Formats: sequence, structure tokens, C-alpha cells
Amino acid sequence: MREHRQNTMCLHAGYTPGNGDPRNIPIIQSTTFRYATGEQMGALFDLEASGYFYTRLQNPTNDKVAAKICALEGGTAAMLTSSGQAASFYAVFNIASCGDHIVSSSTIYGGTYNLFAVTMKRMGISFTFVDPDCTPEELNAAFQPNTKAVFGEAIANPALTVLDFEKFSKAAHDHGVPLIIDNTFATPINCKPLSLGADIVIHSTTKYMDGHANAVGGAIIDGGRFDWTRYPEKFPGLCTPDESYHGVTYTQRFGLEGAYITKATAQLMRDFGSVPAPMNTYLLNVGLETLHLRMPRHCENARRVAELLQSHPKVAWVRYPGLPSDPYYKLAQKYMPNGTCGVVSFGVKGGRKGAESFMAGLELASIATHVADAKTCVLHPASTTHRQMNDTELQNAGITPDLVRLSVGIEDIDDILEDVERALSQVTP
Ligand SMILES: *Cc1c(COP(=O)(O)O)cnc(C)c1O
Repeated sequence: MREHRQNTMCLHAGYTPGNGDPRNIPIIQSTTFRYATGEQMGALFDLEASGYFYTRLQNPTNDKVAAKICALEGGTAAMLTSSGQAASFYAVFNIASCGDHIVSSSTIYGGTYNLFAVTMKRMGISFTFVDPDCTPEELNAAFQPNTKAVFGEAIANPALTVLDFEKFSKAAHDHGVPLIIDNTFATPINCKPLSLGADIVIHSTTKYMDGHANAVGGAIIDGGRFDWTRYPEKFPGLCTPDESYHGVTYTQRFGLEGAYITKATAQLMRDFGSVPAPMNTYLLNVGLETLHLRMPRHCENARRVAELLQSHPKVAWVRYPGLPSDPYYKLAQKYMPNGTCGVVSFGVKGGRKGAESFMAGLELASIATHVADAKTCVLHPASTTHRQMNDTELQNAGITPDLVRLSVGIEDIDDILEDVERALSQVTP
């Protein structure tokens, strides 16, 4: 199909129906695929022919939706996972194993922090968490000889820090490792990490991409530019034969554009099996079709809410990278000039108690462990998503006990503003 602009890609990328084919991406709800001869199937197992044989490894519905997300991010290959957590895990584990080390921004999603600092640490992978606003010298000092990647979030959930792509990609590339970016909050509509120095992008598609709280899911997109073969001793999994796959060397067989994703599919999806259901992928695609319409509305509504909060006497502080007074406004203007996201963080006067009483006063906004959804929702991270962290860890992750994370939806802005105002008026100082 002809190359289209981003808004058109949201509708059409990844699937071009032939004459008489279904207009929508068909849901191929089948675990398995039939072949006439054993030899044909054998060639698939050897990665010598391409074709479907078992949905854990590849499924036509999943592949078409992955291709759409790949096109939106400007990547060369992509895969879907059953959750954002699986995407983060695969993205790192695909190039790091026991004895290796990762440099990560400290302001990342709580679930990712736990995955890295607790669970992957138990697998023998160590992490150094750096303040995203550290100096280049401090960032360089975090690297070790066994460092295999740098990880960060384009806009951090829930801290709303905007990553300095230039600083992070330079440090990663100076040390011969890729930069992996979680682009969940900005989405490819507002930010294109692969064009800003990132090498691999991951998503929790559960959030804006799906957009309607229908299905948990994740995605990994490879930009295809990081040259693993320059550092064969660092990335043996990509540059030397895989004995568990008939001696295939991924970079040789699939090139820089396909090696990383093929390895992640052939090894990690084969062995861990976090495959999304085709039905969920279908729902994700319905969300993707309107992503380009929803994101500008989320941003516009969030800016209005942030302005209201900023001028409200019961609000201690507001963080929204789309506000000119925000410390990350400049970076946001540089890397996502069309908008950031719909999430606003703020502190209600009265600390933890103030936050809780504000939340109790909301009627339209739902209290939900969810974010980046069409419907406005609200969360108190210190008592929910980040409750495993102690106060120092919370502080390092950019979260204070009074922080309320308001995910502004696409309802009528006047209804949202009224709801926030009513709830604030009920907060007793
Ligand atoms: C939600 C979220 C994740 C985890 O994704 P799940 O789909 O819930 O597994 C990862 N990163 C960010 C930024 C998120 O908001």
C-alpha cells in the first residue's frame, strides 16, 4: 500500500483487504493452522519459510495490528504481547541475561520498577536507577562494562517527567547499547521516539492505544537501526548461533531490521508465552482507528484542567508538561510539540488526607486503577500502584503522598471542570 500520513495510518496501516475480503481486520480465533505435508510445517519450524502454525508464535490478527503500530512508530518490525508488563520484560530480557546490567530512569511506572528492581534482579540482572534530570556526567557514571541497555519513559507515569532524548540516546550510544523507550503516555501521535534517538519502543496498549479499557496488551517496536554486529561480544544472542533454534544467527538471517523482534518471538514468546488473544487485538485495533482524534482532545481537556488547578486555592502544586510553567514544558515543546498526554498530577492541600477527600468528592471521574482512557479516571498512587515503595523510593520515583493522578478523558470539558471544582470545594483545609 502507498505510504500514508499518520492519521490515515491509524485507519489503514497493517491491513489492505483484497477483492471481497472483510473490510475489518478478521479475528482469526484459531490456535493452530493446517498444512498438507509435514515438510511444509518443518520449514516453518526452522524459520526457513514464513507462515502460521501456532498462535503463540504468530497469528494473522495479531500480526496485522502489530504492523499498524509498527507503521505508526516508524519501526521495521514489531510484536504484540498480552500486557505492557510482558513487553517491558521481553524488551530487556531479549538482550540481557544473568550477570548483565541495565541503566534505567528512576521515574518509571511502578509495575516496571518492581519488575526491574525485584523480579528481574532475582534473575541476576542488576539495574542502576538514575534521576532523569541528572547531568551527562552522572548518567555516564551509571554505566558498567556489562551494561546492555538504557531504559526510560517518554513521559513518565505518574511523575510526568519528560525524558531528555538527546542526553539519554547519546549516553546509550556512546556506551554501545540501545535506548529502550516506553512511549505509552505520549503515543506515536504525540512523540516518535525512534526519530529522536531511541532504538526500541514499547507500549502498554492497555492505555491510550486501546483507549476504552477493553483489553490489557503490550507492543514492542524495533527501529532496526541499532547495529548489534558492532558489539558481538555484548549481544551474543543476536550475533552468534541460537542452538535452541537450529543454529540460526538472527542478525545474519533477518538483518538489523528483523533480528531483534524475530529473536524475541522465536525465544521469549515461545518460552514465556505472553501472547495476546486475537479477540483482544481486534479490540485494540478499533481503538487505534481513533487514536489520532482522541489524543488532541485528551491534551486540550487536560490543559484546561491543569489551568483550573493551578489557580485553585486548595491545590498545593500542579504538574502537567503542557503548562508553560511546568519544569518539563521546554523538553515537551522540543520532543512533542503537538501535545503531551491527558494525565495531570497535582497535590491537594492537606497532604494524603486532602488527596483522599478530593477523590471521595468526585462524581464523574471514576476511582480506577487505570489511566489514559476515554473516560476520566483518578488514582492516588501512594496508596495503590506504588504502595510497595517506601518513602525514599517514592521520592526517587517522583511521587509524594499527596499526589493525585487525574487522567482527563474526552468528555465535555465543562462537565469535567465542574466535577473537579465540586470535589475541591468539599476538601476541608
Ligand atoms: C500501565 C503501564 C505499563 C504496564 O502495562 P500493562 O498493560 O498494565 O501490563 C507499563 N508502562 C506504562 C507507562 C504504563 O502506564
